[in-house]
Amino acid sequence: MPATDTAAAEAAELGRARDGDIRALARLISLVENQSPRVRSVIKAVAPGTGAARVIGLTGAPGVGKSTVTGALVGAFRTAGRRVAVLAIDPTSPFTGGALLGDRIRMQDHATDEGVFIRSMASRGHLGGLAAAAPQVIRVLDAAGFEVIIVETVGVGQAEVEVASHADSVAVLLAPGLGDAIQAAKAGILEVADLFVVNKADKPDAQQVVRDIRAMLALAGRVPGGWRPPVITTVATAGDGIAELVTGLDAHWSWLERSGELARRRRERAREEITALAVASLRGRLDARRADELAGRVAGGSLDPFAAADELLARQPG
Ligand code: GDP
Repeated sequence: MPATDTAAAEAAELGRARDGDIRALARLISLVENQSPRVRSVIKAVAPGTGAARVIGLTGAPGVGKSTVTGALVGAFRTAGRRVAVLAIDPTSPFTGGALLGDRIRMQDHATDEGVFIRSMASRGHLGGLAAAAPQVIRVLDAAGFEVIIVETVGVGQAEVEVASHADSVAVLLAPGLGDAIQAAKAGILEVADLFVVNKADKPDAQQVVRDIRAMLALAGRVPGGWRPPVITTVATAGDGIAELVTGLDAHWSWLERSGELARRRRERAREEITALAVASLRGRLDARRADELAGRVAGGSLDPFAAADELLARQPG
């Protein structure tokens, strides 16, 4: 298709998605997720309509109750009349496109609600892990008119830290009996958490988790620009504490807007996004044969790797 035709096609598809056509939305997301050749025109078509959505990151170890909390949050935002999208990113899964969340009973409460869109996405296999397609999928959801986008990631490895690069507010979920809060600190989530949620507050030791986090926060003495991460307790299965979580998220959102932090974070995110795209593009432009030849010389000791990198950059094909 000539470029102008694809642009018109993407714009029409986006129009349908905005009008609530879930299939049109799913098609747009698939184009982005599969990094189709049309991804450029999709992203170009959605760009003018982005920026209105509130992106909430939710992360935590497997089993802490992320999908239960997400389901409850979706319910709360729906009650407030907002359109909500959930993007569940599972770095441990090679599957994509909804296979995962289909199994999640809680989410099925919202399966017939047109104001809710739920999508699973595997990060494995994507160049650059989470970083590559997720921001683009978020853009599409934003342009499609979802006012709240919840990005749920399984807290393994770096994933919980990476979620921060996609979200305006990051809630870190913990639960008693699922690895102590000290582990959380090790993973670096203290730095990215805007809110802590101690779920399964019906279980013994929940208060101990709360105390551990408070102690860590006091020790870290971190008050980034005046925001103190609250520690909220929930029993997601019963809906307890969900209203407090929404209040906490709203308070964080107000603070983001008031303090200028929202603009700063979004700018930083855009910077990361374009840098990643530029690096990927540069990588694609490097001369593979030349790289191979230089690699042989570096491995053989006749050339140092810095000089080889300079040479590789100096000579790009066509
Ligand atoms: P995820 O892996 O983090 O998404 O966790 P899930 O939402 O799938 O929850 C894991 C298990 O914990 C499920 O069996 C839930 O029913 C249960 N669960 C979730 N929230 C609570 C809670 O507040 N209290 C208790 N006792 N169980 C919960």
